[in-house]
Amino acid sequence: MWLVYPELCAACDKPLNSGESCICTFCRYHLPRTHFHLEKDNAIEKRFWGRIPLVSATAFFHFSKGEKVQQMIHKLKYNGEKDIGVKVGEWMGQELKESEGFAKAALVVPVPLHPHRQSKRGYNQSAMLAEGLSKSMGIPFSEALVRHKETTTQTRKHRYERFENVNRVFGVRDSSELENKHILLVDDVITTGSTLIACAECLLEVPGTKVSIATMAYA
Ligand SMILES: [Zn+2]
Repeated sequence: MWLVYPELCAACDKPLNSGESCICTFCRYHLPRTHFHLEKDNAIEKRFWGRIPLVSATAFFHFSKGEKVQQMIHKLKYNGEKDIGVKVGEWMGQELKESEGFAKAALVVPVPLHPHRQSKRGYNQSAMLAEGLSKSMGIPFSEALVRHKETTTQTRKHRYERFENVNRVFGVRDSSELENKHILLVDDVITTGSTLIACAECLLEVPGTKVSIATMAYA
């Protein structure tokens, strides 16, 4: 006899009904969405004002500790459930392609993990989101950014040096695939924004590029 385990909703852990995929219908309606992609000068865009020029920026969900969104991100990052990234990415893409500021993006690029961490985890959660976004927006995705260095020594340095250090952590693999493109830079969660800024700076060094940012949540 076969025991069939039902697939569970990534957000509420209840069994999915047929036709539901990864996240149940109830959660799709009730998860705390921001709808920032429809709002000009939204809270995420304001975070980057005066720090880096962006076309648009959004975070898909509000994030609060102990709530469903935090659990989903935890499963995506630490529990091997990379499908959550692809599915949420697809959902984000369906909405972003209806938004003027994002619809013209031509390439999706995830924030890279350090190679050590990626080989330990087996995947980059931001690349999973990028894959989903690429699928539903109908534009390619590329792991065009690389992460060079360990950043663990940062805490011992002065503030200015620390900033310099972050800047040199990221690099571009092949600038020819980025030239003259509007790039959608993707990460799982925005906290201080400094990682995204360092990545966007690298991308903006390539001639003719524009950058927008989309994350799954913000803290
Ligand atoms: Zn659910």
